Amino acid sequence: QAKEKGRNTWQRFSLETNAGAVERLVLETGLRHALERQEIFLHFQPQVRTVDGVWVGAEALCRWRHPYLGQVPPVKFIPVAEECGLITEIGAWVLAEACRQGVAWQRQGLPALHIGINLSARQFATPGLVESVESILRQTGIDPRLVELELTESMLMDDAAGAAELLHRLRRLGVRLAIDDFGTGYSSLSYLKHFPIDRVKIDRSFIKDLETDPDSAAIAGAIIAMSHSLGLAVVAEGVETEGQLAFLRERGCDEIQGYYFGKPMSAEDFSACLRRQMAAADRI
Ligand code: C2E
Ligand code: MG
Ligand code: MG
Ligand code: MG
Repeated sequence: QAKEKGRNTWQRFSLETNAGAVERLVLETGLRHALERQEIFLHFQPQVRTVDGVWVGAEALCRWRHPYLGQVPPVKFIPVAEECGLITEIGAWVLAEACRQGVAWQRQGLPALHIGINLSARQFATPGLVESVESILRQTGIDPRLVELELTESMLMDDAAGAAELLHRLRRLGVRLAIDDFGTGYSSLSYLKHFPIDRVKIDRSFIKDLETDPDSAAIAGAIIAMSHSLGLAVVAEGVETEGQLAFLRERGCDEIQGYYFGKPMSAEDFSACLRRQMAAADRI
């Protein structure tokens, strides 16, 4: 009986493992050709100035339309791309495409927007990152001050001295640096002062519970206050409600990103929305 049970357990285990492995293989195989087949593209989500609601930036978010699987979310394919090393190529493409789009919008007469671009851990650890960023800045002709690279706390913690040096080299190119998902990692604001960081993005998990959980509200408030006292600007991620906005506005949070103002959208939709807003503002 024990043997029987053991076999069932094994069977279930091996089926699940195989399903995971098969999915991974399918994703990895597809990813190898995704760029050249133009299946990867960017969406842009507005970053809004809290005091007046003006769109001042856009975060570039990667999308993959797989021929059979349909849209695969980045939380699924970015880790696979990291494991098989494709992230360097995909990351460079994202960087170039986001910068190119920023320049294109400006040429179309839109105001200069900050462009937020996510870096993955493996990308951050790849030699040549600074050179790659430098050459993309040069090739696209974007004003480097408009480019904001988003990193996470864990990337800085493994080798703090090495990370600090890398950040300083990136900073010397003129780009800005932000800590993404802040509050979910080590969350030591005091160590942030050792890194040349410009902004902190409060993780969505705290924003989500702002109105119902006093602890989340306290943490979000503390992140804003401490960031400001360290001279860092603050962006809140995942703002969906009027109440969350009111809280963040009262605490002086600099910018808001979330479904309340806009979901990630195509570059065309983004510029159309921004134009409508500008036209509406002109009428006031
Ligand atoms: P992230 O950088 O923290 O991006 C914010 C995520 O929160 C996005 O999910 C966005 O769609 C979502 N979001 C924004 N506002 C709201 C809201 O009000 N409500 C809810 N429920 N969600 C909101 P997305 O696009 O699925 O991206 C997930 C993560 O994948 C990103 O988190 C980032 O870590 C990673 N990612 C996306 N694009 C890239 C990329 O080009 N390179 C790298 N390395 N990572 C990327
Ligand atoms: Mg991000
Ligand atoms: Mg985030
Ligand atoms: Mg995130």
